[in-house]
Amino acid sequence: MNTNESIHTLIIGAGLTGLSTAHFLQKAGSNFLVLDRNSHPGGVIQTHTENGFVYETGPNTGVIGSSEIVELFEDLQGLCELETANEHAQKRYILKNGQWEPLPSGLMAGIKTPLFSLKDKFRLLGEPFRSKGKNPHESLSGLVKRRMGQSFLDYAIDPFIIGVYAGDPDILIPKYALPKLYNLEQDYGSFIGGAIKKQFQKKSEADKKITRKVFSAKGGLSNLAHALYEKAGKENFRFNIANPTVQPNGKQYKVSWQHEGETHTILASNVVFTGSSFELPEVYPFLPKNDLDKITNLLYAKIIEITLGFNRWEGIDLDGFGGLIPSKEKRDVLGVLFMSTLFEDRAPKDGALLTVFMGGIRNEKITELSDEQVREVVKREIADLMQLPGFQANLFKITRYRQAIPQYEVSSGVRFETIEKIEKQYPGLLLGGNMRDGIGMADRAKQGKMLAELIINR
Ligand SMILES: Cc1cc2nc3c(=O)[nH]c(=O)nc-3n(C[C@H](O)[C@H](O)[C@H](O)COP(=O)(O)OP(=O)(O)OC[C@H]3O[C@@H](n4cnc5c(N)ncnc54)[C@H](O)[C@@H]3O)c2cc1C
Repeated sequence: MNTNESIHTLIIGAGLTGLSTAHFLQKAGSNFLVLDRNSHPGGVIQTHTENGFVYETGPNTGVIGSSEIVELFEDLQGLCELETANEHAQKRYILKNGQWEPLPSGLMAGIKTPLFSLKDKFRLLGEPFRSKGKNPHESLSGLVKRRMGQSFLDYAIDPFIIGVYAGDPDILIPKYALPKLYNLEQDYGSFIGGAIKKQFQKKSEADKKITRKVFSAKGGLSNLAHALYEKAGKENFRFNIANPTVQPNGKQYKVSWQHEGETHTILASNVVFTGSSFELPEVYPFLPKNDLDKITNLLYAKIIEITLGFNRWEGIDLDGFGGLIPSKEKRDVLGVLFMSTLFEDRAPKDGALLTVFMGGIRNEKITELSDEQVREVVKREIADLMQLPGFQANLFKITRYRQAIPQYEVSSGVRFETIEKIEKQYPGLLLGGNMRDGIGMADRAKQGKMLAELIINR
């Protein structure tokens, strides 16, 4: 390709954001080209099959938190199938004093649970009457302590944040990290009151699709990525590329990259970036350092993801979604997902597939351990937590992420403003990916549609 060629939209990244953007552009008949340094679509989404186990080394489960993720599956009928979590996998366990306790889902269970203190259970009755917070940059810890009490922070929100962000409620800012929760207080004056009122509000057809059920794709999340790739047209993708660089060129952008030792160049009216924030200076060398610094300062959690497969399971009953471990418990693992309970055909009959996470913002140091040390820690922790008489894993995989999950902390407001400023200054230049608009897979599909619509309506 050379500069004589032009394309309406060039997308950098074939992860879920780039694939979703490509999908919605293709649906609207708008032409595009996707570049990725990897050899395959999906970005961090990677499903593997080995000796009867089907396991993920990136995200394991998503939540149907946007109608766009459902729309993707609807559009991909025949190519890939949405799989929602097994009915028997609803229970979520939280570790307290070394024991797994189910997170209560009803009033009676809520009254009886040992997870929260008696004082905080009584205090919760007053939650709807507590006054609204006034500091938009109050930390999540601050918000939860103020409205619900310390024990709810320690044994509900802290483990939830570990599960979603591998994060720390002391530094996450609800306005950016959990905007729905933040808005419940701001719009309705109460989490409980707001949640009840919202239940009775009339929902649009799109909102009805947002079931908040846990999902995957049948056979693993890579099937979703591959189906999107196929449907968007394989000819519109270039893999194994290096050093993509963007420069303004009149009303267009000149994009260059290397592939197998050759330099390629193309003109594009729109350029969508879907990678991580720290990649921006190399891709957009013309953007002022002062602006870039306000985006590249985004903090990412380091994670080690460990996949354990057992041909024969001899530990505790895996009757739930999995278990999360509050930071107060001071363990060396963050939590365990019961993947073979959640989804069909992930492990041999009578066997089990578990995903274990280590690291996160509060325990980054542990990610410096060698593979051998990680194995020892996991063996010790999982044998104890899952009451395994012996630890005989038939599958043991370690995947490391140095920049796994972006943390929407206090600098996020300035980051979002700077991105908007750049986009205004350079029409057609769009900065996407999980540095903005949420970190989950449902958020990525939603952003992909939004980006495609911005391009189509330009
Ligand atoms: C370990 C882990 C666990 C997770 N767990 C969950 C979960 O349980 N539920 C959930 O909803 N979400 C989870 N997430 C988050 C979710 O997976 C991501 O937000 C989402 O998949 C990101 O998609 P993306 O396309 O924005 O980015 P990516 O998947 O990172 O894709 C970006 C793509 O762009 C390419 N790229 C970037 N820069 C360049 C460049 N300069 N040149 C060429 N190519 C480039 C990369 O190669 C990559 O393929 C998890 C993430 C990780 C890492």
